[in-house]
Amino acid sequence: MTTPILPGATLGVLGGGQLGRMFVHAAQALGYATAVLDADADSPAGTVSHHHVRTGYLDADGLRELAARSAAVTTEFENVPAEALATLAGQRPVAPSAAAVAVCQDRAAEKAQFVRCGVPCAPHALIQTQAQLDAVGDELLPGILKTARMGYDGKGQVRVRDRAELAQAWGELKQAPCVLEKMLPLALELSVVVARSRDGEVVHLPVQQNLHRDGILAVTQVPAPDASEAQRQQAVACAERIAASLDYVGVLCVEFFVLADGTLVANEMAPRPHNSGHYSIDACDVSQFELQVRAMTGLPLVAPRLHSPAVMLNLLGDLWFDAGGTERTPAWAQVLAVPGVHLHLYGKAQARRGRKMGHLTVTAATAQAARDIALQVARILGLPAF
Ligand code: ATP
Ligand code: MG
Repeated sequence: MTTPILPGATLGVLGGGQLGRMFVHAAQALGYATAVLDADADSPAGTVSHHHVRTGYLDADGLRELAARSAAVTTEFENVPAEALATLAGQRPVAPSAAAVAVCQDRAAEKAQFVRCGVPCAPHALIQTQAQLDAVGDELLPGILKTARMGYDGKGQVRVRDRAELAQAWGELKQAPCVLEKMLPLALELSVVVARSRDGEVVHLPVQQNLHRDGILAVTQVPAPDASEAQRQQAVACAERIAASLDYVGVLCVEFFVLADGTLVANEMAPRPHNSGHYSIDACDVSQFELQVRAMTGLPLVAPRLHSPAVMLNLLGDLWFDAGGTERTPAWAQVLAVPGVHLHLYGKAQARRGRKMGHLTVTAATAQAARDIALQVARILGLPAF
């Protein structure tokens, strides 16, 4: 057994976004102090942390200060340069490891990892050269061309119907290394958050069902209303297998597609808590962020229990503008008058369309009630029904 780093110590996190902010909240609730490294003076996590190191990820002084302040370090940002994690790992325990994060940063490496674990994924081809583009088989079209690195919220992706569109799309993506995936007939989308300790112990959150709009997560429902028990078990088993294969320490989320014929296919994974796991703050007795704290410090992992069915709605910057494009404040007082609503705003000063400004989770005694209330709240906010 690893000797745990106990409350009172300072925990460091690379990245100051909303995931870092919710990590800071969970760490502080357990009695830890926190240190955030992020260049932005107004970052959501930096503004609520005990310490805020305001440098870039590769700044030697910044990394030194973060290591000096922290008993252990984690990341909230998937695309943090692997060198930054490797540098820190020379000085402090870092979870997840630079090697595991590097796999998740690259769609090609990620898919290779799925294949190694016997986890099915979409038929795909790596496109790094004109020759590879020319050699693409017709069976991959129509498809989605995705940049191998730095994609999120549907950015860096182009849907292509034929070869002409594929060639054009690769040009639009500046001929960056890409993965072309076959367009699959999706029946639904699921995700699983697992946490794994240094000793190889694994726990998981209940399986989430996700609805995306324009490539961005919009709604998460738990329990997953349309997944079979077998599909849920298979998703959890796949995620645990992937975590074990990476000797993963920390929180890992794996996204899945369920195809029209019921087959489960892994889409991608994130080496950190995930937007689809935010409901766990309000609906589970242990949140994904507390699991992140427990895993990085070597505290015991306990299996989270869902105490209320939940529906999570993402709150994008679009809500801060009326139909005419004038800025406004969403009707928070009206939303908060509805029982079972838990509002989380990330403290971002500037609303932009498509920017994740916050989320809210509805908890209720039954899944039907949670859904009804979430639909009521969606109406108040002007969000589409689901
Ligand atoms: P994230 O914000 O989750 O990191 P991302 O930009 O990395 O998003 P993906 O998860 O690859 O993007 O894709 C976003 C969404 O696009 C998926 O959730 C799914 O709805 C749709 N999609 C992606 N790949 C496929 C596919 N091969 N077939 C059908 N739909 C797909
Ligand atoms: Mg995704």
